[in-house]
Amino acid sequence: MVIIGNGIAAKTLLFELFKTLKASETNCQNFSVAQIFSNQHFPNCSEKSTATISLNGVDVGVSTLGDLLVEGYDEFCNFVYNNQPDGIELVDQYIISTDGDNDQKLSRRFNQLTSLDFKLLKNSHKGVLLKSFLLSPTIFNSWIDSRNSLHSFLQIEDVVKDVKTISAEHVLVELFGGKSIKSKYVVICSGAYFNILKNFNQDNLEFFSDSVVSGSYLVRDFFYDQSFFLTLNGHNVFYRNQDNKLIIGSSSQKGNFMLPRSNELCDILDYLTKHLNLDLGSLDQFKMITGLRHKGPKRLPICGFVDEKKKISVISGLYKNGYTLSFSMSKKMINLLLSQQCFSRMNLE
Ligand SMILES: Cc1cc2nc3c(=O)[nH]c(=O)nc-3n(C[C@H](O)[C@H](O)[C@H](O)COP(=O)(O)OP(=O)(O)OC[C@H]3O[C@@H](n4cnc5c(N)ncnc54)[C@H](O)[C@@H]3O)c2cc1C
Repeated sequence: MVIIGNGIAAKTLLFELFKTLKASETNCQNFSVAQIFSNQHFPNCSEKSTATISLNGVDVGVSTLGDLLVEGYDEFCNFVYNNQPDGIELVDQYIISTDGDNDQKLSRRFNQLTSLDFKLLKNSHKGVLLKSFLLSPTIFNSWIDSRNSLHSFLQIEDVVKDVKTISAEHVLVELFGGKSIKSKYVVICSGAYFNILKNFNQDNLEFFSDSVVSGSYLVRDFFYDQSFFLTLNGHNVFYRNQDNKLIIGSSSQKGNFMLPRSNELCDILDYLTKHLNLDLGSLDQFKMITGLRHKGPKRLPICGFVDEKKKISVISGLYKNGYTLSFSMSKKMINLLLSQQCFSRMNLE
């Protein structure tokens, strides 16, 4: 099997795959897996993410996306509980409103607001308190990479040029470097660069209504006694004790712009500086980080087979929720592949 990508979707899929293979060792004698990616040419979004895992008032039974987010959050909690990974911390997220307009917005989202005292705000305000996670991409990625590397698989750093079904049994993955890999199954986890690889299925229009939305945030090294997570009138500011990062944002703009919206980020910093009892620092002390998010049709994640012969599949369109959704999407993908009995008799050629 070939997995394209090295973001959170590909890493969690590999993790889930190796877990499944370990549990069913006798059936997978000839199984081999290759991971192909080129972070150099296609920078991954997962390293440029604020990577919070929060439900923000989403509940089941309201929308398909809401149901998937709750399922994703629960699966993330299970993953943390079962594996105790590095780089993840459960924190109190204070969602606070300081004015009437925001009170109304928050009340619509959460049924009841209470009066909250957040230590970095001068006064108490209306809001809600949630249990959410802060994830350091650097620490977590190195943890999951080291777990995955306990298993043998081929890693190829190259650009995938095309993915095509060449027979009832095989898919050909063509690389810019000149090599081709013949495989029985391919899972594409290519994030915002999905468009480049869409030629495999010209007829499946559902997958063509995706788009790219760039996102930017401010980050700086900082020292404080413990992690905190505040959403103040819709703006996030949080501090991760694990890697001493203070993060503010993020902003969004449609299209694949790698340039941040610096004015908007500057306004958010000014706004938070005015409200907080903490010296956040000036704009020039921060780095601006930008990543490209892949938005699926109706903001929904894409997880399934995309060719008639069920040889090519995709996990993508994770949009603003890649860290929340990857764990449940990977499980779903493994179940789909199991339903095709694809873990027996597989070899790369
Ligand atoms: C500013 C910002 C803040 C965010 N905050 C959050 C948050 O708080 N919580 C949350 O859950 N999510 C958040 N997200 C979203 C989240 O980061 C993404 O949904 C997630 O990273 C997507 O992961 P992915 O694995 O699908 O894609 P990526 O991480 O982009 O990985 C794609 C991979 O595919 C490879 N690739 C693509 N095309 C090719 C090709 N042709 N050949 C070879 N390799 C290829 C790339 O090299 C890369 O390794 C945020 C995103 C941004 C930008």
